[in-house]
Amino acid sequence: MIAETRLRRLNDHPISADGKYVLYWMQASQRTRYNHALEYAIEQANTANLPLLVGFGLMDDYPEANARHYAFMLDGLRDVEVGLKQRGIRFIVRHGNPGAVAVGMAKEASLVVCDRGYLRHQKAWRDHVADGAPCRVMEVESEVIVPVEEASIKQEFGARTIRPRLHRKWPEYLVELPEGKLKHPSLRLKITGDVDVSSPEKALAGMKLDRSVSVSRYFTGGQTAAQAKLSDFINHKLRGYDEERNEPAKGHTSTLAAYLHFGQISPLDIVLAVQATPHIPAADCDAFVEELAIRRELAMNFVHYSPNYDRYDCLPAWARKTLSEHRLDQRATVYDVKQLEAAATYDPYWNAAQREMNVTGFMHNYMRMYWGKKVLEWGRSPEESFEMLSHLNNKLFLCGRDPNSFTSVAWIFGLHDRAWGPERPVFGKIRYMNAAGLKRKFDIEAYVKKTAQM
Ligand SMILES: Cc1cc2nc3c(=O)[nH]c(=O)nc-3n(C[C@H](O)[C@H](O)[C@H](O)COP(=O)(O)OP(=O)(O)OC[C@H]3O[C@@H](n4cnc5c(N)ncnc54)[C@H](O)[C@@H]3O)c2cc1C
Repeated sequence: MIAETRLRRLNDHPISADGKYVLYWMQASQRTRYNHALEYAIEQANTANLPLLVGFGLMDDYPEANARHYAFMLDGLRDVEVGLKQRGIRFIVRHGNPGAVAVGMAKEASLVVCDRGYLRHQKAWRDHVADGAPCRVMEVESEVIVPVEEASIKQEFGARTIRPRLHRKWPEYLVELPEGKLKHPSLRLKITGDVDVSSPEKALAGMKLDRSVSVSRYFTGGQTAAQAKLSDFINHKLRGYDEERNEPAKGHTSTLAAYLHFGQISPLDIVLAVQATPHIPAADCDAFVEELAIRRELAMNFVHYSPNYDRYDCLPAWARKTLSEHRLDQRATVYDVKQLEAAATYDPYWNAAQREMNVTGFMHNYMRMYWGKKVLEWGRSPEESFEMLSHLNNKLFLCGRDPNSFTSVAWIFGLHDRAWGPERPVFGKIRYMNAAGLKRKFDIEAYVKKTAQM
């Protein structure tokens, strides 16, 4: 049984008596393991004695996405097809706007089940499906451990304020999700898609896409690769995470961000696996869970309750005020977005970070902070810096365009942070970082060497 608090009814229609199947319209949770929406849909299909169809709408122009993102996602959809087939469930993919594709498939459904996304366009697609489907539409939360409204009914100030709320809820939500068995297999259902995801390369070649960003050779998408990364992390990197995670050259983190972004792995699955690993020092386990289950869910809280999450005016008033007071400060160096993307600045550490991002679609967390702070320093205005940083983040990171992306970009400019002294040119009271800090804390030359070989 899926917790009631993970469910939301999106329209007033009844379950249709003459539907041919239950439809799970997959969008945010692109996996077959630890997917509450899929398990709920199986339960409902079994109750109605109907088969279950899983459908996906593949659009060419997902906001800010390019070939790098699509290649990764198509790898994942191939895994979904295989995973569902093993459970007797038909998966079809149709080309088109996700909401419109779902409404098309809903015409013969008795019930539509969908998963949950917190970004503006994801909410709009679900509203469209709720309006257009002739039957009941149920949304099931599977992308966070604690459903956002259960954690808090308002935008939280920071990790400090959301942490105790989430901690209180964990005993209720950190629970295993058993896999259900579909009573009436749907592999023979007479319904067709128009995209064959069994060959991701062919599917990619058939799409009209922005191909200006190369496909990453460093990351293969999909739930199989995600589970392999999780095992590797647990076996080799979890021990020592607390101390080592901030050392950029060591790569002592999970690198699961893109898999989480595409819903190819569940945060609940990860936390349960980490907590079940014996003999890991509590400090390592806690530090990792803090990132995954507190910081990440703080980002969901932010985008859910802040309609302007991707615009400069999402910043707290104190941050905008101090940046405005320093708007006219002389900038020692100014770069435009092309120079930044070309990693052509005077700063070898920053260039190394940009290179890691350009080539792999990933960047180490500590370097992301440094990278972002320098862009704040190098823009002609704070608004321009905000635009440049959002653009590079979302274009080049495989995990870009995520609630974490918008929240982290805004963090560079003071969100979820406090005022710091002494007040500095350009930054005002915003937290400052410089190259001297990198040299003092890390073997930053080792990072430069590592990225030069990428
Ligand atoms: C300027 C800037 C931009 C960023 N852009 C993105 C982005 O586009 N997409 C993205 O997912 N993350 C972003 N982050 C947050 C963080 O840097 C990455 O999630 C993390 O580095 C990913 O590496 P990992 O998967 O190895 O993390 P791990 O250390 O293994 O952590 C596990 C997971 O916890 C979550 N997590 C880790 N650190 C944070 C954090 N500080 N805030 C929120 N969640 C966190 C991520 O989902 C991550 O995959 C950004 C941070 C900064 C400072």
